[in-house]
Amino acid sequence: MTRQAITLIGGGLVGALLARLLARRGFAVEVFEKRPDPRLAGFVGGRSINLALAERGLQALRTAGLADDVLQRAVMMRGRMVHPLQGDSSLQRYGVDDSEVIWSVSRGSLNMLLLDAAEAAGARFHFGHALADADLDARRITLSDESGTQRQHDAAVLIGADGAGSALRAAMDSYRPLGIRVEPLGHGYKELEIPPGSGAERFAIEPNALHIWPRGGYMCIALPNTEGSFTVTLFLPAHGPHPSFDTLADAAAANDFFLQDFPDLLPLIPCFADDYDGHSVGSLSTLYLDHWHIDGRALLVGDAAHAIVPFHGQGMNCGFEDTVTLADLLADTQRDTADTFAQFQRIRKPNADAIAAMALENYIEMRDSVADPRYLAKRELGAQ
Ligand code: FAD
Repeated sequence: MTRQAITLIGGGLVGALLARLLARRGFAVEVFEKRPDPRLAGFVGGRSINLALAERGLQALRTAGLADDVLQRAVMMRGRMVHPLQGDSSLQRYGVDDSEVIWSVSRGSLNMLLLDAAEAAGARFHFGHALADADLDARRITLSDESGTQRQHDAAVLIGADGAGSALRAAMDSYRPLGIRVEPLGHGYKELEIPPGSGAERFAIEPNALHIWPRGGYMCIALPNTEGSFTVTLFLPAHGPHPSFDTLADAAAANDFFLQDFPDLLPLIPCFADDYDGHSVGSLSTLYLDHWHIDGRALLVGDAAHAIVPFHGQGMNCGFEDTVTLADLLADTQRDTADTFAQFQRIRKPNADAIAAMALENYIEMRDSVADPRYLAKRELGAQ
């Protein structure tokens, strides 16, 4: 028996996993995704190239029957490899052994795997269709294709997984204010690449670690990719006195800064100038909403409801947890949809608020405390 029709906006990480879970529960799921199909057109990311997948996200993937497939495309990270300016690098393990680790996954390959899995479960995707407007009284949405042609679609139950810049959130907010608060971090990020080695050493540095170069007010991190490269991310104040992205406007200025502050990292990035000048500075903010839904008509999940800064590596993981909670609640036929959405927010918002606060705190820990001898002494004594 096919259940209720559900319209999802956004076929990114959270939208695709939710589509899979709902289709497996028998819902008739239609997904409208702004971008072209990445399996045909190539993946256009926009955000980080790779991500840390942790136990919370992995548990959701297990529920969807996808954990093993994803882990086959992931690199295990057993701890933080801290690279001080002076002295030797050291590994700070996440747990006592390899039963407590996190995983580096490529955003593109994970998204494509989730799209395949959602389609296999019966979800229907419409790529190149951006939500342009939502008439919540008529329960109808307007979609715009790549040529600008618009079409209407009836959407009795509408779920927005369209990310931090959510168009559905904007439409819901103009219908009934959601209490939106955006807190910019004031720091931005830029991605660079350590390429794979050409000889026997496929990875230029330790593959099974999340690398951190903490420098007090800023830092670099690097996550491994399966083919041997690392994606390096420089986090730095966006504006203000040196060093900031204002004062490091181009690769020439940034090269001198790296020579001084990241002398062991710079030689590992042979295309530094091209990477630095070719990649734009990403901005980082925390998004808080008082209301994630409008009765039973529309709901926001993932970054559309609770975008956070990336320093705990938990944004996707938290969004993945959303999908399991929501699919379970929607499958409970005893409730009406308005109750389900209200219950979803009651369960998930305290978790989202907690990880938002922890992510902000962890920026200080990663860029500063991890290199502090007092912090290291505390870890030796078993404090996490
Ligand atoms: P998105 O991934 O943004 O997907 C939204 C989708 O909606 C996209 O496909 C988009 O094309 C589509 N869309 C947008 N507008 C429309 C529209 N109008 N109509 C139709 N479709 C639309 N999280 C982790 O768990 N671990 C990490 O290590 C990690 N690292 C990160 C590093 C950085 C630098 C950043 C910025 C984020 C990081 N995150 C990490 C957070 C993670 O990227 C997000 O939490 C995650 O992508 C949220 O998934 P989503 O599907 O909600 O949104």
